[in-house]
Amino acid sequence: MFFNVGNTCFAGLHGFDIVLIRAKLNSIKDTPQFIVFTADDAVQSYTLDAVNQFLAQRKNPNGCTPRMTYYTSTDYTNYTMVTDWYVAGNEIADHTMTHVGTPPKEEVNGNLIALNALAGIPLSSIKGFRAPFLNYSVDTLKLLAETGFLYDSSASASIPVTDSSSDAYWPYTLDYGMANDCLMVDGMCKGEPKLPGFWEIPMYAFFDSRGVAGPHLMDPWLDAANGASSVNNSATLEYMKNTFTDHYNANRQPIGLYTHPIHLSKNYPGVNADEQMINMINNFLDWAQQQNNVWIVSSEQLLAWVRNPKPISQLDQVPELKCSTPDVPADQKICNGVPQNEEGLLSHCFFDQFPFYTCYGCPESIPNPSSPNPAQKNSDGSTRHRLPENCSTPFWDPVAGSCTCASSSCAFTDTSRPIGPNGANLTGGGTGDSFNGNSSGPSYTPFNGSGAGSIIFGERWAVSVSVVGAVVAAVMALL
Ligand SMILES: [Zn+2]
Repeated sequence: MFFNVGNTCFAGLHGFDIVLIRAKLNSIKDTPQFIVFTADDAVQSYTLDAVNQFLAQRKNPNGCTPRMTYYTSTDYTNYTMVTDWYVAGNEIADHTMTHVGTPPKEEVNGNLIALNALAGIPLSSIKGFRAPFLNYSVDTLKLLAETGFLYDSSASASIPVTDSSSDAYWPYTLDYGMANDCLMVDGMCKGEPKLPGFWEIPMYAFFDSRGVAGPHLMDPWLDAANGASSVNNSATLEYMKNTFTDHYNANRQPIGLYTHPIHLSKNYPGVNADEQMINMINNFLDWAQQQNNVWIVSSEQLLAWVRNPKPISQLDQVPELKCSTPDVPADQKICNGVPQNEEGLLSHCFFDQFPFYTCYGCPESIPNPSSPNPAQKNSDGSTRHRLPENCSTPFWDPVAGSCTCASSSCAFTDTSRPIGPNGANLTGGGTGDSFNGNSSGPSYTPFNGSGAGSIIFGERWAVSVSVVGAVVAAVMALL
């Protein structure tokens, strides 16, 4: 009989966490081998094409197409591609707005605000964070925990599972501190930082023939293997298989393909992706999937299983591993992240730096950390409605401003998060920071001069962002 394993049991017992999972599962043979697939940085059609060349043709053991996690930076992102990718079942996570390491909170929170406003991603769906350059601090982790993130995935597991001192831990909570990157980040480990209920999903390195001296973490295929001076796809494939086998035969610790997909794009000008390299990665996945009980998953799917581990025979009971498509009629005209539904309904936002499309109306300026949700301004004078807290993305009609969900099966409630000025709680909805043509609130020009704004008190988003919101929140706190 299985006994209950609470989340905190994993914390502080990093070396024994798998023992607890196995106690619940009885045997390692009951444990699936997860391959976490992630991508980082801006989302564009060519980066999604690059990811799709590895995933679209595959099925997990339950017949579903694998999902992955896209750690998204908003700069250079085409917002409608984020919407489409999310509605297709993938996870959207935070990678800061402008791609900075050890980010200030405006970079982390602004990413949430912009992805919610312009890509229609519910705030509750953005659960994870990865630091650009994997460069983070204890304060970064504290910020993430404070602002309602479920997990970070910036730490490295850099000692092979074949080594008795391996740090390839299953994901764990920080109830008793971090257990990875202990020598890399100040103030880590030995019980710090204590962030109860907040998870770390380590990034698991591959190791070439040099073992611990030859780790390969992100885009391992771009590295030369075994100390050689140039890339050799065969050598890369060999050590990727070997490390996978080590995990499979040890405690089934997850392994990960952590990609910067632009390097593997076949249709981005200036990038000359190596066809042999692409084939090698697919060969690796083909080989891995031929083995029993191998699943390709997103970070949130992995974490869902770890939080409630089920033996292989009961994986059909894990809702996060299932696949489903939103029940929206194919001929319905609704800008909702489903390409066939939203055709012809996208707003094209012209900016010199990077033009993009969105269902949710163009901002008057490119979102940035000091103004992540600028006023809305469309060339035809129309106003679109942002995803509110009581409707899910595929059912929200941003043109009509109405929720088309008419049954309990599509009912949805988003959460608010303390990501506004001075920790103010924000919720989705509204039409943008200040634009609706009849603003009656006070006007204020931020000191960076990046855009004037005025406030409408009735809109939660209005108090959400920028220096304007900070002033209002401070005044309201005095009242
Ligand atoms: Zn990055």
